[in-house]
Amino acid sequence: MKRRSLLLSAAALAASGCAPRDLDAIEGGFNGIAHERGHRLRVPWPDRAPDVVRRTHTVIAGGGVAGLAAARALRLAGHEDFALLELEDSAGGNSRGGAVMGIDCPLGAHYLPVPGDDAQAVQDLLEELGLRRRVAGRWQLDERHLCHSPQERLFFRGQWQDGLLPLQDVGAATLAQYRRFAAAVRAAQSAAHYAIPVWKSAFVGVQFTQDAMTFEAWLGAEGLNDPQLLWYLDYCCRDDFGAGLGAVSAWAGLHYFASRHGFHAPGEGAADDESGLFTWPQGNGWLSAQLAAPLGDRLHPQRVVGRIDVGRHGVTVDVLDVTTDRLERWQAQQAVVALPVRVAARVLPAPPAALRARAAALRTAPWLVANLRLAAPLQDRPGAAPAWDNVLYGSVGLGYVDAMHQSLQPVPGPTVLTWYRALGDEPRGRAELLERPWTHWRDQLLAELAVPHPDLPAKLLRMELTRYGHAMAVPVPSTLRQLADLRSAVPPAPRRAPVPALRFADAPRLAFAHSDWSGYSVFEEAFTLGHAAGVALAGREP
Ligand SMILES: Cc1cc2nc3c(=O)[nH]c(=O)nc-3n(C[C@H](O)[C@H](O)[C@H](O)COP(=O)(O)OP(=O)(O)OC[C@H]3O[C@@H](n4cnc5c(N)ncnc54)[C@H](O)[C@@H]3O)c2cc1C
Repeated sequence: MKRRSLLLSAAALAASGCAPRDLDAIEGGFNGIAHERGHRLRVPWPDRAPDVVRRTHTVIAGGGVAGLAAARALRLAGHEDFALLELEDSAGGNSRGGAVMGIDCPLGAHYLPVPGDDAQAVQDLLEELGLRRRVAGRWQLDERHLCHSPQERLFFRGQWQDGLLPLQDVGAATLAQYRRFAAAVRAAQSAAHYAIPVWKSAFVGVQFTQDAMTFEAWLGAEGLNDPQLLWYLDYCCRDDFGAGLGAVSAWAGLHYFASRHGFHAPGEGAADDESGLFTWPQGNGWLSAQLAAPLGDRLHPQRVVGRIDVGRHGVTVDVLDVTTDRLERWQAQQAVVALPVRVAARVLPAPPAALRARAAALRTAPWLVANLRLAAPLQDRPGAAPAWDNVLYGSVGLGYVDAMHQSLQPVPGPTVLTWYRALGDEPRGRAELLERPWTHWRDQLLAELAVPHPDLPAKLLRMELTRYGHAMAVPVPSTLRQLADLRSAVPPAPRRAPVPALRFADAPRLAFAHSDWSGYSVFEEAFTLGHAAGVALAGREP
């Protein structure tokens, strides 16, 4: 046994009294994302004639949620002649699902909060999928897909507590700061509209003031400095934005609460979002699969889009088929560019000014996702019962969700735990993700999770890790200012479109869509922008 493994397992298992396990006997490795395909764009594109030329009316480049939403909008508008080109083996991007030894699990995104009225396009999707329907004049949600209770718990001061806000034995000063922050969120909500998608926000003066500073600086200026409050807010930022308080803007930090459920100090009314999110064993991979299913052979996976040329009479898209190494040329009338912003800027020989500006300003966070296949349920520390989302106070990871939480099995059994880590605050995070062997992350993760679950190493059958080099845009200061500039650069939304489509005068025949444009990487942003792009190119409402 290697010394590292021996030390870790000895420390982790000390409390359980179990014999240390040889961690190197645990199967595992990296999966999910084909970095070498994306990095294909770093070297010159092959200088040879295409092996095949294909025609379609509309190309969609990129099959994440935005690209899939654009395809749906085209389809619903009766515009069936399109091709969706995606680099990975399946569509979904950051919202793909997988399975480890027969149990479904997320590879990335794992939940969708019940969308509010600003996210009309997402509400329509949920209705189409049967997750929301009108009964006797009221909206009803399909409870099978809503997160079952208990939703979340926190391992704090040696025991589990309900909810994620630290409460166990916190003092009066901490509770007072919780109340002050709750009041600040209420004040923000009454001063401005914080919408999801962000394009529906008002973008008013007070928000630009928040946008000009980090959340950390804003909290300092407000005298909010309690360690438990700061840990909780930092956790929320890392969880939603991939980087913490010192990186995201105060606008983004407040938006997290003001746009959804608010912030509730203890005794001020329970957070009413306990049943407010949809989740599935495979996470948002369930939604991606629903969106991809109707596409049939119009979905072309394993295709690297290398160049998008806009000419006077159409759009030419050059693609590498990674399975055959053949070059494909697609000729189309128009295209939705649903690629990450930096990729879009690279594949367009003459990117529009707005794309260049967004790509230059963009800061992205790397992420690591680990799926842990367990032979049996874990022992537990005292306190709250296992929940869907289980977070450890003070840890570098963001905790884990349980893929079997939504199952109706009466007795817990084998499962997959999906553990998340955002590396947006780590200067070498991206390089480390590429350089370090999977066992490096295994050891860190087990050292962290073995504190509440000493029997974890003994029950772990397999660990699969998914690395995202540029997972999501971080809403750093000035993001709102850029969104406002962008909004003034695009034509207004047609009457029934959810938001204006990202179309630019210096990029005719193209519409852009990707959550990078919002600086806010959530399903609603990607879906709404993709929907708007599809509506714009279809030329009519679905
Ligand atoms: C670990 C993780 C957890 C998350 N959790 C949640 C969550 O729980 N809830 C939530 O709402 N959001 C979550 N998100 C945010 C998530 O990014 C969005 O919900 C959404 O999936 C973004 O979709 P997108 O289409 O904007 O981007 P992407 O998912 O980045 O889609 C872009 C697509 O383009 C493809 N592509 C890239 N380059 C090329 C090329 N050259 N040629 C062809 N195709 C290419 C990619 O493979 C990808 O499929 C999470 C993200 C991560 C990384």
